[in-house]
Amino acid sequence: MQDRSESESRRLLRRLRDTLAEPARGQERLDRIVGMIAESMRTDVCSIYLFRDRETLELCATRGLKAESVHRTRMRLGEGLVGRVARTATAVNTADAPAERGFRYMPETGEEIYSSFLGVPIQRLGEKLGVLVVQSREARLFSDDEVYALDVTAMVLAEMTELGAFTSDDTPMASAHKHPVMLRGGSGQEGTAEGQVWLHEPRVVVTNLVNDDPAAEAERLRAAVDRLRVSVDDLMNTAGTGDKEHRDVLEAYRMFANSRGWLRRMEQSIESGLSAEAAVEKEQSEARARLQLVPDPYLRDRLHDLDDLSNKLLRILTGQGSDTGAQMPERPILVARNIGPGELLEYGKLLKGVVLEEGSVGSHAAVVARALAIPLVVHAEGITTEALTGDSIIVDGDEGVVHLRPDDSVAAAYRDKIIMQTQAAARFAELRDKPASDRKGNRVALHMNAGIMADLPSLEGSGAEGVGLFRTELQFLLRNSMPRRADLAALYARVLKAADGRRVIFRTLDIGSDKVMPYMNRPEEPNPAMGWRAVRVGLDKKGVMRMQLQALIRASNGRPLCVMFPLVANFEEFRTAREILLREIEREAHLGHPLPEKLEIGAMLETPSLAFAPDAFFKLADFVSIGGNDLKQFFYAADRENELVRRRYDTLSLSFITFIQKIVKRCEANGTALSFCGEDAGRPVEALTLAGAGLRSLSMRPASIGPVKDLIMRSDLDEVAALIDRAKEHGEDTLRRSMIDYIRSLPIG
Ligand code: PEP
Ligand code: MG
Repeated sequence: MQDRSESESRRLLRRLRDTLAEPARGQERLDRIVGMIAESMRTDVCSIYLFRDRETLELCATRGLKAESVHRTRMRLGEGLVGRVARTATAVNTADAPAERGFRYMPETGEEIYSSFLGVPIQRLGEKLGVLVVQSREARLFSDDEVYALDVTAMVLAEMTELGAFTSDDTPMASAHKHPVMLRGGSGQEGTAEGQVWLHEPRVVVTNLVNDDPAAEAERLRAAVDRLRVSVDDLMNTAGTGDKEHRDVLEAYRMFANSRGWLRRMEQSIESGLSAEAAVEKEQSEARARLQLVPDPYLRDRLHDLDDLSNKLLRILTGQGSDTGAQMPERPILVARNIGPGELLEYGKLLKGVVLEEGSVGSHAAVVARALAIPLVVHAEGITTEALTGDSIIVDGDEGVVHLRPDDSVAAAYRDKIIMQTQAAARFAELRDKPASDRKGNRVALHMNAGIMADLPSLEGSGAEGVGLFRTELQFLLRNSMPRRADLAALYARVLKAADGRRVIFRTLDIGSDKVMPYMNRPEEPNPAMGWRAVRVGLDKKGVMRMQLQALIRASNGRPLCVMFPLVANFEEFRTAREILLREIEREAHLGHPLPEKLEIGAMLETPSLAFAPDAFFKLADFVSIGGNDLKQFFYAADRENELVRRRYDTLSLSFITFIQKIVKRCEANGTALSFCGEDAGRPVEALTLAGAGLRSLSMRPASIGPVKDLIMRSDLDEVAALIDRAKEHGEDTLRRSMIDYIRSLPIG
C-alpha cells in the first residue's frame, strides 16, 4: 500500500478505541492491536515495544515476528533501530533495515526476512513510553502518509498506555506512574521532607482521543484557537510595555497562536481521526521531545512557550481550569516546572517541600524557599511528567535528590533520618537561650539570615542573637514596579520592631546576575555573575540606592541602623557608597527627620580582591561580612549555579580556609568586626571549621542555629585551630577528613 486514505486511519483509530471499551486483559489487548495495525497498514509485521524501565525496551506484542520472542527480546535505549527511535524520539523509515546504521540483529525474532522498517516513538508529553514498529518483506520506503498515520496511531497507543490499558496481571510491565523513580537535581535549600505531590499546574486530562466527525472536530479546534488568540491579545494589552522578558513570552504566544503550520498540523491529525484535544497533545508531545534535544536556551524557552500555549488551548477545549478541584494533600510537596516567588509566598509555610523541574539555586523561587526554610530541589528533570497529585514523595534537599513513589526500604530509611532530625531539633531547642561557647568558653555569635517579614518570628524560636544578613531584594523582585520609599520604610520599620532591639544588618539591594527586577531595563550580559550587579548597579543608578537608603534611615527613626553594601570589590566602591549614605543622613537631618542613634556601615567581602584592599578600607569599614557563596565562586572560578562545577571545590580545602584566616588577620589588625553570612555558615562541619579559623560571628538560616550551636558547645576551638595548623604542616589538601574524625571523637551533648 503506498497511499492510505484518511478514512482508513479513522477506522483504525475507532477500532483501537473500541478495544479500550471491551473488557480484556492487557496482553490480549496488545495482541489484538498489533493485528489490527498490521492489517490496516497492510504490513507483514507490527510490533509494540514498551519501556520496562527507563533504559530498557521490551517487545510486548507482535504480529509477524516469532511469538516466543515476546517479553524476551529487549534492547537498551539507543540500541538497534528500535532503541534509536526511542532515544531520538523521531521516526526511522528505511527500505533496507539491515544496511541501516545501528541495525542490530535479534535472531530470536526471525526478523531477518523483513527488509523495510518503520518505527515511531510512543510518547506522551515528553514521556517516552515505547516504540511502534511495522515491517515488510518488500524493500520500500513508507510514504509520508503512512508515517503520519503510524504516528497518529502511536499517539493513541500512548494515551491508552497512560490509561493503563496494557497493564494487568498477565503483563509483566509496570504501568506508568506506578513504579518508584529517583530523580537527581540540585540542592536549592537544605532539609528533608516526606509528603505527597501537589502539582502546581495539574495536567489536563484528555479522555476522548478519537473523533467521529472530523469536520465538526476541526470546527471545534478553530473556535478554541480563536478564543486563544483573543486571550493572548488581551494579555498583551494588559502587560503594557514594561517587562521585556514577559513581553517576549507573550510575543511568542502570539506568534504560535497565529501560526498556520501549527493549526494545519493539528487539522491534519483531526482528519486522520484524532480528537481536537488529542491533536493538540500530539503537537505538544513532539515539541517536548524536541525540547529535550535542543541545547540553545532561547529556543528552549520558546518551546516552553509553545508548551504553555498548548496547555491553555487544552484548557479551553476541555473546560478544565488549573483548579481541578483536587484536595490539597495533608503534607503537600509542591511540584512545578517553575514557580514565581509571589505564588510560592502565597503557599507559604503550608508546603513541606518544593521540587522544580527547572529553577536554579539563585532563582527568586529559591530565595523564597530559603526564606521559608522549605527543602527545595531544582533541576529535577522529568518530575512534572512523572508525578501525579497525591503520589508519595521524598525531597532530600541536602543531596538534591527526589524519590517519587519510594519503595518501603527507601521510605523507611528517610523516615529514620527525619525522626533523628526531629529528636535532634528537640535537643537543640533546649540550647536556645544558651550562648554558643566552646568547652573553653570561646564565644561565637550566631545570627540569622532573613529576607521577608515571615522570617522574623524565627529570631525568637531559633535563639539567634540578631539578623546578620537581611536580603532586601525580595521586596523589589516580587513587584511589577519599583516599590515606593514609604512602603519600604514601613516594611523596614516592621522588621526593626520585630527584632526588638536586636541588631539587624540590612544589605542594600543585591540585584543583577540571576536576580532581575522585571521593571528595570537590563543589558544583555555575557557573564552576568561577573557583570553589572549589586553595589555596581547601586553606584550607577544612584536614584534607586538613595531611595532605599532614605527608607532605611526613616525606618530606623532614631534607633541604631546597620547598612551593608554587597559585592564591594575595592576600597573606592566602599568609600563612594558610604559617602552616599552619609549625604543622605545629612539630608535627612536638614529635613528635620530623626537620625539613627548609631550608624554602622559595612561591606560584604565577596570577591578575593577586597581581602587585599589597603588597611584604610578595613579602618573605615565598621564591619565586614564574608559572603561565602559568592566569595567561593570567585575564589575557585566555579559558578555557584552550575551543577557541573558547583560542588567541585571544597569549602574546607586548606587554600580556602587559609584565605579566610588571612581575612581574619587583616580585620584583627585593623580592629574591624568580621562575620560570615554565606550558606556554609549554616553547615555544622563548615561552621566549626570557620570558627576554628578565627571567625567569631556567623549568620545562617534559622534552622541551622541549633545544630551549629550544639557542635560548637561540644568542641574546643583551639583544638580546631591546632588541627588546621597540623593539616598545613602535613600538606593536606582538605580538612574535611580530619574535621570529621575530630567531630566523631567529641562527646555527645
Ligand atoms: C553570599 O554571596 O554568600 C551571600 C550571602 O549573598 P547571596 O547569597 O545573596 O548572593
Ligand atoms: Mg552574594
